Amino acid sequence: MKYIGAHVSAAGGAAQAVVRAHEIGANAFALFTKNQRQWHAKPLSDEAIASFKTACQRYGFGPGQILPHDSYLINLGHPDDTALKKCRAAFLDEFQRCEQLGLTLLNFHPGSHLRKISERECLARIAESINDVLSRTRNVTAVIENTAGQGTNLGHRFEHLAEIIAQVDDKSRVGVCIDTCHAFAAGYDLRTREATLATLDELDAVVGFEYLRGMHLNDAKSAFGSRVDRHHCLGEGNIGLDAFAALMRDPRLDGIPLILETIEPDRWSEEIDWLRAQQRQPADLAPSH
Ligand SMILES: [Zn+2]
Ligand SMILES: [Zn+2]
Repeated sequence: MKYIGAHVSAAGGAAQAVVRAHEIGANAFALFTKNQRQWHAKPLSDEAIASFKTACQRYGFGPGQILPHDSYLINLGHPDDTALKKCRAAFLDEFQRCEQLGLTLLNFHPGSHLRKISERECLARIAESINDVLSRTRNVTAVIENTAGQGTNLGHRFEHLAEIIAQVDDKSRVGVCIDTCHAFAAGYDLRTREATLATLDELDAVVGFEYLRGMHLNDAKSAFGSRVDRHHCLGEGNIGLDAFAALMRDPRLDGIPLILETIEPDRWSEEIDWLRAQQRQPADLAPSH
């Protein structure tokens, strides 16, 4: 079963995100549990927590279908110790909000070295940030997202993700989310079915599919290997539809949230329908003899 949805707005409260996901015909969704551009947020009220849980139950979303995303301000590999401490405190707050909402995944970007420390040192700091938060929380898995590699962001090579995971103590609560736009911009080809399968094979060889906890399905306005992060609607960017059709037919993507972060929310329901339809294409059902 494929869980397909979009990163919906949580304006008006987390429960509203559930309603919005339902309205676009999604059976998965992503959300921010606080304003993603601010450090501080009011704690979640008991009422907000209860209405989120009620909405999830009513519309049939289990925790495995929901991929919350943390704030963009957090840099878990920050070279400055004081700033790193602030980031780790904010990251812990994000984890605790997920726990309160009954969620089990939290998706985040690994971090940036800001040209002050080496890549290796930055990756070690990121892993230590993850160890720190996992030791203080329960039940929520840290889901590291691959990046386009803009600026000094790490995570654009699958090797970076593997190196972080290698240093995480509790391997049962760490995973990855692969964003197709980011991968493409970072130099992983997705322009044909064959290229897409080769990229997935590389992911399997370097990181391992057992760590794949979600995907972001975005076409790319940015060019192949450009290290620029610009999403586009499915089929309108430089990746094209073949990759997304291939992904929908790949059983290794069953049972994890597959989230659109494409640029036209009005088209999400259409994009979700199209993605679902790809699973029913007869190509894979062709006799193997
Ligand atoms: Zn992200
Ligand atoms: Zn992006």
